[in-house]
Amino acid sequence: MNNRQLFLTYQAQTTHFPMMLEIERAEGCFLIDINGNRYLDLISGISVNHLGHGNEEVKAAIIDQLNLHQHVMVYGEFVQSKPALLAKKLTSLLPENLNSVYFLNSGAEATDVAMKLAKRVSQRSEIIACKNAYHGSTHAALSLNSDEYYKQAFRPLLPDINFINFNSINDLNLITTKTACVFTEVIQGEAGYIPANQDFFLALRKRCDDTGTLLVFDEIQSGMGKTGKMFAFEHYGIKPDILLLGKALGAGMPIGAVVCSREKMILFADQPLLGHISTFGGHPVVASAALAGIQVLEKNNWLSQVDAKEHLFRTLLVHPAIKSISGKGLMLAVELDSFENNLKVIQECLKEGLITDWFLFANTKIRIAPPLTITESEIEQACNIILSALNLVYGSSV
Ligand code: PLP
Repeated sequence: MNNRQLFLTYQAQTTHFPMMLEIERAEGCFLIDINGNRYLDLISGISVNHLGHGNEEVKAAIIDQLNLHQHVMVYGEFVQSKPALLAKKLTSLLPENLNSVYFLNSGAEATDVAMKLAKRVSQRSEIIACKNAYHGSTHAALSLNSDEYYKQAFRPLLPDINFINFNSINDLNLITTKTACVFTEVIQGEAGYIPANQDFFLALRKRCDDTGTLLVFDEIQSGMGKTGKMFAFEHYGIKPDILLLGKALGAGMPIGAVVCSREKMILFADQPLLGHISTFGGHPVVASAALAGIQVLEKNNWLSQVDAKEHLFRTLLVHPAIKSISGKGLMLAVELDSFENNLKVIQECLKEGLITDWFLFANTKIRIAPPLTITESEIEQACNIILSALNLVYGSSV
């Protein structure tokens, strides 16, 4: 059997129509398949490869740590330099109240841990999430998903979860003294890159303060510079009680993280002892990559270029078939009229060497989330391919 057959026969499938690109290597903003075809990457492995593929400093950091040791003990028992340094570095970039980090292996796990922590801290059980949010796919994280289509086959899910509309100030009165925490993304990802409104976030922060409810920002997708600031919440002048990170934090390696105050986090050590445990959380090789990733981001001026790159995409992507472009920075979503046409455009783009995608809850939108390292000429190349695909799919019908 060749690799394609092995993949289809032995590896779990999540759709009946996988993309089936057979990638051999990746460099910068390009993926290269086994036949040498190059694909410009507009999705970054779904918001992971913000430094571009194959960053040399990240690779060196991984090898350095591999040469010392890999896994030696379950999370939180032995002192290992890379996770400790990473926690220090991360908290130095955050407001004072976010000074303790629990490292995990994935975003969904971070969501789960934050749900447990909020219950433990507040001694309340109700959790509120926003409609059309995505916080992961495990049982707990799925419970925060408002879309019945994704939940119905897996009930019963967690009880005491309620939903508010994202950006609806009216809905905030559903947050009460019974609410342990409110989960929200800062830019809703799978809803098709919808940024929070400033007024909504200010009112949300106030309502949480008034009711003693913890505010959890899920920046698993929006963190690490994609909006031009290291964390998207910095655009709003408010801070969360708990911050979730993942995806790009690992600089290409699997990671999740919950960040909050030390006084809250320490409750995991008490009643019960071992309130959350993880074998691989804070893996030293992953932590080494993540630490190097942050250093690379800080050393280069990619964050300061994000606005200009957003502007270039928005300027070039003008076509009668485009209904809107939402999002911020290098998290942009181009809205078309139907899923059917969107799929055709995505397939045409792929034929021309451009990888893009749709969104879980916004299947009429094209995802534009390239590495932050994308150059002006690569943006021009990407936009030309998208515009040609739109011409081909829509012809003279628009
Ligand atoms: N939260 C957000 C905002 C996400 O976009 C995702 C993944 O897409 C997750 C959580 C879940 O992360 P993971 O797939 O690493 O479990």
